[in-house]
Amino acid sequence: MAVIYDRVALIGLGLIASSMAHAMKAKGLAGEIVGYARSAETRAAALEIGFCDRVTETAADAVRGADLVVLAVPVGAMGAIAEEIGPHLAPGATVTDVGSVKQAVIAAVAPHMPQGVHFIAGHPIAGTEHSGPHSGFATLFENRWWLLTPEGADGAAVARLRALCEGMGAKVDEMDAAHHDLVLAVTSHTPHLIAYTMVGVADDLRRVTDSEVINYSAAGFRDFTRIAASDPTMWRDVFLTNKEATLDILGRFTEELFALQRAIRLGDGDHLHAYFTRTRAIRRGIIEAGQDTAAPDFGRAAQVAPKGG
Ligand code: NAP
Repeated sequence: MAVIYDRVALIGLGLIASSMAHAMKAKGLAGEIVGYARSAETRAAALEIGFCDRVTETAADAVRGADLVVLAVPVGAMGAIAEEIGPHLAPGATVTDVGSVKQAVIAAVAPHMPQGVHFIAGHPIAGTEHSGPHSGFATLFENRWWLLTPEGADGAAVARLRALCEGMGAKVDEMDAAHHDLVLAVTSHTPHLIAYTMVGVADDLRRVTDSEVINYSAAGFRDFTRIAASDPTMWRDVFLTNKEATLDILGRFTEELFALQRAIRLGDGDHLHAYFTRTRAIRRGIIEAGQDTAAPDFGRAAQVAPKGG
């Protein structure tokens, strides 16, 4: 494939940024990849693994002369990074982010973008519960959705970013940021909160039943523990910044839970059966859409199902 950006600056070098770097290198999509992470340990790992051509000690140094800048830090850290890099961005550069929440990131980043720089917020719906520079792999985005929320950005700049995402194997869709946050509250954010809660409940119970919860852990609980192993900083920021949509969906969830609780108490098997039949169809739809399988050639994560923030 042809080079799409001559110099890409990755700000934050964890799961998503390192996966992007591996994918861009594998497909020849970037001339040079420059990386910045706040810790010297992460910067050294990026060079040692080889997914960055060079690393810098400041974010400002990383973005100088870059035609694409990718913000890949936790959502709550995006605003401070944008403020730091704003004055050093090259005219005509594109800045994007990979944050799991869009309205809050746009509000935090956009005010720091100088005239002539294209800011196009984005979110790859791809991930695992692993984090850090060692967790990335080139096929993470293959056949996964990459959502862009361009909000009136320059059409040519959007088309170029879209080509990069597609080059990494993703399918691209554009949507409004508020709609994105509501959809993700349903498909990702609230399910994570429920998994965190269920694992917390089991942990309390473990103290009563010794280690039975761990030893006899069945598939449902095992899946919850995998989700609940996700990075605490990232998820704290997601809930703090996608507050309204998450609370809305959580309210609806609670109502449904009460209805199921009532059906169990009343012995209403018809209600339970009809409900589970409806939800089973949703699972089949996800399988038919090809969104249930992990990337095939990623050894460790191929053991687990994929997830997205
Ligand atoms: P990650 O593996 O935990 O890496 C985070 C990176 O950000 C690290 O390089 C870390 O630096 C840096 N960082 C953390 N806090 C920072 C701060 N306060 N200031 C500056 N840098 C900071 O994270 P990730 O999973 O790649 O997630 C990155 C972004 O992608 C997040 O916004 C997340 O919402 C989004 N996302 C995640 C997933 C997922 O499933 N993981 C999926 C889609 C989108 P050090 O290594 O030096 O500490």
